[in-house]
Amino acid sequence: PVSFHDDAPGEVGIMPEADCIFCKIVKGDIPCARIYETEHVLAFLDVAPVAPGHTLVIPKAHYANLFDLPEEEGRRLFAALAPVGRAIMAATGASGINVQMNNYESAGQVVFHAHLHLIPRRAGDGLAL
Ligand code: IMP
Repeated sequence: PVSFHDDAPGEVGIMPEADCIFCKIVKGDIPCARIYETEHVLAFLDVAPVAPGHTLVIPKAHYANLFDLPEEEGRRLFAALAPVGRAIMAATGASGINVQMNNYESAGQVVFHAHLHLIPRRAGDGLAL
């Protein structure tokens, strides 16, 4: 079940959600290829990459999506993008990178724990994002 915490804005995201796959990854209950980690942010490889090096950057605390995310957590996520993106580009030899965030089902959100996609790009790779 997805909770948007509309009734408790002061408590948003403090507790991990029992059924959330990304909360389980944060806790180490589900394995992942961790590529970057701070106290508040985790980056790991997407299990179904659309390009080699496709990475997800998430807050360790549970927030459903952009609209549930406190400003400070957004700043922390954003601060991780350049160092992680640089490392991904260096590791994959990509010449560019897309940052994408899907919010709500109609926009393609499947996992309701806020996350940013970092997708390495090459000229002529044919990806339509
Ligand atoms: P969304 O469509 O923006 O919600 O993206 C969810 C992403 O999470 C998809 O790209 C999935 O491939 C990815 N994903 C789902 N489960 C796992 C996992 O266990 N490990 C790593 N990535 C996952």
